[in-house]
Amino acid sequence: NEGLGSWPARRARKTPHRTALIHRESATDYGTLHTRTTRLAHALRVRGVRRGDRIAYLGPNHPSYLETLFAAGTLGAVFVPLNIRLAGPEIAYQLADSGARALVYGPSYAGLVAGLPGSTDVRLYLEVGGEYEAAVAEAPAEPIDEPVGADDTCIIMYTSGTTGRPKGAMLTHGNLIWNAVNVLVDTDLIADERALVSAPLFHTAGLNMLTLPVLLKGGTCVLVDSFDADATLDLVERHRITFMFGVPTMFDQVARHPRWPDADLSSLRILTCGGSPVPTPLIAAYHERGLTFLQGYGMTEAAPGTLFLDAEHAVTKAGSAGVPHFFSDVRVVRPDLSPVDTGEVGEVVVRGPHVMPGYWGLPEETAASFADGWFRSGDAAQVDEDGYVHIVDRIKDMIISGGENIYPAEIEDQILAHPDIVECAVIGVPDDRWGEVPRAVVVPREGAAPDPDEVLASLAGRLAKYKIPKSVVLADELPRTASGKLLKSRVRTRYGKQ
Ligand code: AMP
Ligand code: MG
Repeated sequence: NEGLGSWPARRARKTPHRTALIHRESATDYGTLHTRTTRLAHALRVRGVRRGDRIAYLGPNHPSYLETLFAAGTLGAVFVPLNIRLAGPEIAYQLADSGARALVYGPSYAGLVAGLPGSTDVRLYLEVGGEYEAAVAEAPAEPIDEPVGADDTCIIMYTSGTTGRPKGAMLTHGNLIWNAVNVLVDTDLIADERALVSAPLFHTAGLNMLTLPVLLKGGTCVLVDSFDADATLDLVERHRITFMFGVPTMFDQVARHPRWPDADLSSLRILTCGGSPVPTPLIAAYHERGLTFLQGYGMTEAAPGTLFLDAEHAVTKAGSAGVPHFFSDVRVVRPDLSPVDTGEVGEVVVRGPHVMPGYWGLPEETAASFADGWFRSGDAAQVDEDGYVHIVDRIKDMIISGGENIYPAEIEDQILAHPDIVECAVIGVPDDRWGEVPRAVVVPREGAAPDPDEVLASLAGRLAKYKIPKSVVLADELPRTASGKLLKSRVRTRYGKQ
């Protein structure tokens, strides 16, 4: 077995007594992770799971997530993580679309699972803590030697679907391994790393930018059910956390926490921020505290690491998403795939051993998303004179006003510099004269009531006139996916009327 499924065995051979996982008060060493994973694989096989079958997982961050992933890999089966924030029908869709045979789920999801339609292929249900524990306890621990190679599918991960119906990105063992290698090459991650895993494991970043590279190296992952700023500060101090990954909203909430100024953050070595545009004021707030973000740009389909900004350039190149990972090739191109000139806006395309072979069961969508072997990200970007890539925005979110292209992210970044505003989304609204004009939907800081006219006045001179929103709407919160990505389409439906 050359795939992920062999990792626990390989780690147990080298470092059986090092701690792999910590969850609440319990710690699992690599030897135990290996034994439990092997037993679970036997238990699944006895219950009819075969090579190539899909095994879905529904639950918050928990050791059983990783045990199921590695057990699937041990059998040559395919792991399908489900997003816990989805509604019943959305879960049913992904179970049916992936044709999952087995479903492992956390106890709080028993109600949801009981309500699933009988039409899915799921034949085996294991509740964590219940049948799951019993199955692991009674299964044998003899090694399983199933041939699994780099090109076999390891995971089907549904993209968060900021646009359209979720598609299952097929990630091979090779994709995940090359991504982990890229993280190890481009950070100074060490075997003594203690990572705080509060980003959801059912999304690519929490799993692939943080957890898997740490487990490959033999470090420790502290798993938390869900992100909370207060708990983050506690856990960093208690476990002397060295490595964190988060989307910008997570780091932002931590920096706004009342205990932020006094918390002991001296153990932190690697902070990676990414998954959506990283506002420059946030980079500055951490830098003032002596903490330098590494920044990552990527996408589920690329497993996900694509561009990376290292610590050395984090401040001088703030606002850029960096340069390609070691084993990644990235270009910013015109529609005919020719590379753009410096400063010209084009589309990011990516190629490399970490890029998925395609979407599960969707040959046409797969063909449409690749051009000449390059995966089309749908993101607009520019390249500066040093070759650093600056993500401008999603191409689909572009606003055209009086013939001028406006990328909302640039405006959002400026509005977020306002002291009374914590979140912002800029959308286009229909306009009789200009076709479309920008509108800002903003979430005020708790207790603050920013004056819309003053907010707009603060932008004068910092942005071209046509980019300055024509209206500002105050909102309590913005619709986001579980990974913290803004759901622009929903902002548009809710706030986009003329
Ligand atoms: P997903 O499909 O959920 O994997 O999200 C991938 C998308 O997130 C990319 O195509 C980008 O639009 C966005 N994204 C990820 N990282 C960054 C970043 N560092 N800066 C800007 N956008 C990002
Ligand atoms: Mg996407």
